[in-house]
Amino acid sequence: MSIQFVKRVNQSTYLDPASDFALKTVESEIRYDPLTGRISRVFPFRKFALPKHDWTPFVEQSKQRFCPFCPEVLEKVTPKFPADIAPEGRIKIGDVTVVPNLNPYDKYASLVVMSSRHYIPIEEIDAKLIVSSFRAGLDYLQRVTAIDPDGSRYVSMNWNYMPYSGGSIIHPHLQILAGKEPSNYDKELIAASDDYFAASKNNFWLDLVNSELKNGERYLGQTGPVHWLCAFAPRHIGDVIGVLPDKRSIFDVSDDDLNDLAVGLCKVIGYYNQSNISSFNAGLYFANTENRGFAVHARIVGRFTLFPLVGSDFCHMQIMHDDPWTIILPEVIAEELKPYF
Ligand SMILES: [Zn+2]
Repeated sequence: MSIQFVKRVNQSTYLDPASDFALKTVESEIRYDPLTGRISRVFPFRKFALPKHDWTPFVEQSKQRFCPFCPEVLEKVTPKFPADIAPEGRIKIGDVTVVPNLNPYDKYASLVVMSSRHYIPIEEIDAKLIVSSFRAGLDYLQRVTAIDPDGSRYVSMNWNYMPYSGGSIIHPHLQILAGKEPSNYDKELIAASDDYFAASKNNFWLDLVNSELKNGERYLGQTGPVHWLCAFAPRHIGDVIGVLPDKRSIFDVSDDDLNDLAVGLCKVIGYYNQSNISSFNAGLYFANTENRGFAVHARIVGRFTLFPLVGSDFCHMQIMHDDPWTIILPEVIAEELKPYF
């Protein structure tokens, strides 16, 4: 079944001070997420370019302050898991350590300290770093699901890279969550995927991939079985989705799948770096075996500010009205991103 991509183009007029107050018409778009129907706003800034951002002063400052994830102190200051989750105290895979979150967002909340390195510049992020961190996060999720399947029914893996993303600690880490209830967004995502399947007997995500493949405007390419595309209704700048078809839960995802997801994410991150998008949020979304309309997918969105180290790219639209917006058309991003795939 082919997916409908619906948008409404608004025309606004004003008397333009840049051209002697002549009447000018500018366009913006309201796009509807093809799964949830939620609005995203696109008001394309012409000739928009982000300034190159240098994190050095911030990183130096963070080294002067205390970092709980640096190897000298990690064992002393981070909590350990109870024995039913990890008899060894903390889950370790190579250079990666999983610890409980002192300030949990849900019943089960852990942090994957991705490396012993305090700061990993964006150009040094590689697939190996991501795969071992995802693997460690999955390991934790599989352990809590084994001891408390009902209390850890809904899970997610999340990555806030550098401060614009909301990450408060420079030292690279993932936020892993599991709880009885899904997040607001996960609830919509899973319910809408289920509804789509009930109505059409098709999987939305497969239909999305096929529709994007056919129209080509936002389709980027494949890494193994993972299909990558720019989101039609973006959650923010440079919103890219990597769909892993036929996988629904944390138990379906193999190490090869993690590698294919990581390789694709690295391509997007490489593009972000070239485009001076110096910070991002990324995540893996999962559902459960019975959610036949769902597919495991990765999503990554760029974060920025126009005024280095102050200001925010979140405003009344996202916070007060739940409306995401972006200033670059997804089709423009896709055109620039395609060569990376
Ligand atoms: Zn550190």
